[in-house]
Amino acid sequence: RGAPRKLTGKKQELDAFIDQFEYFLFDCDGVLWQGNVLLPKVVETLEMLRNKGKKLIFVTNNSSKSREAYSKKFADFGIPVEVEEVFGSSYSTAIAISRVYKIPKDKRVFVIGEQGIEHELAAEGISYFGGSAPLPFPEDDVAEHVGPDPSVWAVVTGLDRKISYAKFAIAGGYLQDPNVHFFATNIDSTFPTHGKLLPGAGTCAAPLTLMTGRTPIAFGKPSMAMMDSIESKYSLDKSKACMVGDRLNTDIQFGLRAGLKGTLAVLTGVSTEADILKAGEVGEGPDVYLDCLGDLLG
Ligand code: PLP
Ligand code: CA
Repeated sequence: RGAPRKLTGKKQELDAFIDQFEYFLFDCDGVLWQGNVLLPKVVETLEMLRNKGKKLIFVTNNSSKSREAYSKKFADFGIPVEVEEVFGSSYSTAIAISRVYKIPKDKRVFVIGEQGIEHELAAEGISYFGGSAPLPFPEDDVAEHVGPDPSVWAVVTGLDRKISYAKFAIAGGYLQDPNVHFFATNIDSTFPTHGKLLPGAGTCAAPLTLMTGRTPIAFGKPSMAMMDSIESKYSLDKSKACMVGDRLNTDIQFGLRAGLKGTLAVLTGVSTEADILKAGEVGEGPDVYLDCLGDLLG
C-alpha cells in the first residue's frame, strides 16, 4: 500500500475518487457527528452521494442504540436514513446469535449492556435477561446468586453505563461453564464524548476476561463477522466499496481486512493526522484522508 494521501479540494480529483465506488460504508460518530452535534456539510455530502446513485450503509459500533433509534437520530439531524440502511454492533450481534449460532429456542442470554442490545435481541426473538433491568436482589447478596444456570446459553456484553461488581459476578458465574458462549457487541477501548475519552464497550468485557481467561467473540468493527453479515444483507460488492471512518483500529482496519476497494479517514474523530501517517508506514493506514467529510463536496 502507498502512503495515505490527503485529498486536495480539487473537484476533478474528488470526483475521480468518488466515481471508483458504488457503495460507501460510513462510520457515524466522529464522521457524521460528534455526539449530538452534526458536523459541517454532512447533509449536503450525503445528498450529493445519493444523487450520484451511491448506496450508503451506516456502520456503527455504538451498542447503546438499536437501528431504529439510530434512524431516528438521523431524522432529528434532518438526514433521511432507513432503518435498513443502519448496521449497528447490537444488530450484528443479535443476527449472529439467531441466524449463525442458532441459539436453541429454550435458551436465553445474559446481557451486560443497554437498550440497544435489548431491542435488537428482542427483534430477533432471542430471550434475554439482565441488561437495563436492576438485579432482582440486593447487590450485597450477590454471592448467594452466582452460579451456573442451564438455561443460560451466552453472556453478551456491550457498553453498560450502570455496570456493577454484582453484574460482573453473575456473568462470571455463567462463563465458568465453557459451554456458555462469550460474545461482545464490540470491544472499543474508549468512546469519545464531550471532547474527552470515556471507557468504551471493551471495558465491560475486560474484567470477565481477566477473571475467566476467556476472550469474547466480538461482532462490531473490525470483526469480519460484521462484514460477512453486511455482505450478505446488502449484496455488497467489496471491489466497489469504500469504508469511511475516523478510527484506525476499528474503521480503517475493518475496510483493510475485508479487502474493500478503498478506505477514507477523516480527522473529526479519534485518530489524528500523525496517527494516520504512522499507520501508513506499516501498511495499516487509509488510502486517503480529509480534514472532514464535508470536504468531499469540494
Ligand atoms: N460505543 C458507544 C457506546 C458510543 O456511544 C459510540 C459513539 O457514539 C461508539 C461506540 C462509536 O460509534 P461509531 O462506530 O459510530 O464511531
Ligand atoms: Ca467513529
